[in-house]
Amino acid sequence: MSQDQLITVGGAGGFIGGALVADLLRKGHTRIRAIDIKPFSEWYQKFDEVENLQLDLSDLANCHVAAKGAHTIYNLAADMGGMGFIENNKALCMLSVLINTHLCMAAKDAGVERFFYASSACVYNGDKQKVYDIPALKESDAYPALPEDGYGWEKLFSERMCRHFREDYGIATRVARYHNVYGPLGTWDGGREKAPAAICRKVALAKISGNHDIEIWGTGDQTRSFMYITDCVFGTQMLLNSDFVEPINIGSAEMVSINQLVDMAEDIAGIKLNRRYNLGAPKGVNGRSSDNTLIKQVFNWEPSTRLRDGLEITYKWIYDQIQQGAKSL
Ligand code: NAD
Repeated sequence: MSQDQLITVGGAGGFIGGALVADLLRKGHTRIRAIDIKPFSEWYQKFDEVENLQLDLSDLANCHVAAKGAHTIYNLAADMGGMGFIENNKALCMLSVLINTHLCMAAKDAGVERFFYASSACVYNGDKQKVYDIPALKESDAYPALPEDGYGWEKLFSERMCRHFREDYGIATRVARYHNVYGPLGTWDGGREKAPAAICRKVALAKISGNHDIEIWGTGDQTRSFMYITDCVFGTQMLLNSDFVEPINIGSAEMVSINQLVDMAEDIAGIKLNRRYNLGAPKGVNGRSSDNTLIKQVFNWEPSTRLRDGLEITYKWIYDQIQQGAKSL
């Protein structure tokens, strides 16, 4: 696509949406429409040179505004968060179905050519994630369907919506299944943060306060893989601009336990902590990581930022946020 075709980014006030707008600007795109429901003051990144709109994209009329004249829509808008949020807000998570459904309808009416949907590893069948040391999840593991309750069902349904809008109406819809994205300028506090940000915050608070006790959710043996934000933004655009039509994993294949994640954060901070395990806290599935066979085969690429490297940048950023008074001790 040429650099002066209009690109709409839904959820642009959020973590991935904000990073995507920043990258599109860096690449020289001149017409970007950035949309989020949040007041501008709460956007993680906001750029004066793009068209910024505060709109609720669950509303069809607002989706028509979003789609008007657009060549491409990236849908990164959703009510989401880490396990602490999605396990306790299933109805809210499912209501994000309105955003994707209305954006698809508006995209069709406006003649939008390309449409990206941010799905998630939460679509995968729970029975394949019961043990800590699991084989990585491949795309076919989404069926038979047994996704994460609430959030995962919405993602799986919306994936399907994208597929049928492509088949029936010819919109080039592309679907990525992101695996845990982390990095600076993301959610790190307030209840919606995910494990890497939560661990960095707890370790940084321990470092600053001198109180070396931290709480870990679950046994700490749960395994995950974590993708650094720059890999996510690169993979997203690569997929959107490709001819590949099926949902595909965009995630890191570097699987670690939560305890190993804490080890890394401790090492970065230069402290050792007393870990208290809260077995009653939300902890999600026991094991999950990304099988990257397909993405390597199709694109000859996979997210490759080492967790230690990305975590160091993230830890420093969160530490600075705390030091600047964004979180009181
Ligand atoms: P985020 O919460 O930082 O960003 C989502 C943004 O959507 C928020 O700014 C929110 O205000 C906005 N939004 C919510 N409802 C809206 C509405 N009705 N109208 C307009 N905007 C609305 O989350 P993120 O990490 O940037 O995630 C982006 C997308 O990627 C989401 O669809 C999410 O489910 C998906 N995803 C993220 C991860 C991850 O690890 N971050 C993993 C898998 C999938």
